[in-house]
Amino acid sequence: MIMLFNRQGLASSLSLVLVWLMAARGAGVCFADDLLPKEAALQTTEQAALRGVLTPEQQAALAPQAVLDDLLAGNRRFVTDDLTQRNHSRRIREAYAGQFPKAVILSCLDSRIPVEDVFDRGIGDIFVARVAGNFVNEDILGSMEFACHVAGAKLIMVVGHTHCGAVKAAIDDVRVGNITPMLAKIRPAIEKGRPFEGPKATDNPAYVAHVCRENVRLAVETIRERSSILRNMESGGRIKIVGAYYDLSSGEVSLLP
Ligand SMILES: [Zn+2]
Repeated sequence: MIMLFNRQGLASSLSLVLVWLMAARGAGVCFADDLLPKEAALQTTEQAALRGVLTPEQQAALAPQAVLDDLLAGNRRFVTDDLTQRNHSRRIREAYAGQFPKAVILSCLDSRIPVEDVFDRGIGDIFVARVAGNFVNEDILGSMEFACHVAGAKLIMVVGHTHCGAVKAAIDDVRVGNITPMLAKIRPAIEKGRPFEGPKATDNPAYVAHVCRENVRLAVETIRERSSILRNMESGGRIKIVGAYYDLSSGEVSLLP
């Protein structure tokens, strides 16, 4: 009984300490473990807005081009294996009350593209939509409109990639289950894409790369054509919409012209 009492007493003490710690954090007390060394060096106001969990004021002050530059800089850190070390426990607590991400990224389902890592981003930084073949449909458009028009994101990036299996399946006209109607949404990149000289088959890597890129360009065009909300936000300079291409062999993201 004495041991049980002591354990209960210890638990109560620990609970009090925990409550005190949480209250202290709410009062703005800084703790040494809040930031890991790399983050601690990035706490100018501008850098904090670009790299920490954003406040609505910080998000509103960001320019679309600065967000794009920041993501591409993050990709350079990913390529050189220099990812920012983040205190995820702290960021979970910071982001709990609301989210004000700076960008929305549409990526393929491919498991070799860990989107947050690819751009060196953490909790609360970016919206990520994923579907095999990174095409745009009504649901993806609605998600992008939510991200930008409602939640304030400044950039839409569609990211295709080299050797995309979904694009190859569309070229091969694979037909099975629900994959059939899914691939039909990639096929316009084959039928409406820019002309290609040479064999049009999946054993021609140049053709596969061509269709992968055309698929991204078509997604960007579709966003502008089918979403008046996003089109008007872009023409008014409130957001940017860009297409990009991820190289599976290097991890590098390049913007498509
Ligand atoms: Zn893919």
